[in-house]
Amino acid sequence: MLGGDFRDRLGVCTAPHCDRVYVDVSRNGTRRFCGTACQNRVKTAAFRARGRTA
Ligand SMILES: [Zn+2]
Repeated sequence: MLGGDFRDRLGVCTAPHCDRVYVDVSRNGTRRFCGTACQNRVKTAAFRARGRTA
């Protein structure tokens, strides 16, 4: 559906060193990153922070 409340769907990427704005088009609004590049970057960093080596 278009014409919805896009302002409610606007968010800023939560990845470090990134402040890009995205529009969350997922059904339940759980998006946190501007794209998969940032998502993977944060995932990898969290994985490493847990003490596991790649
Ligand atoms: Zn980002």
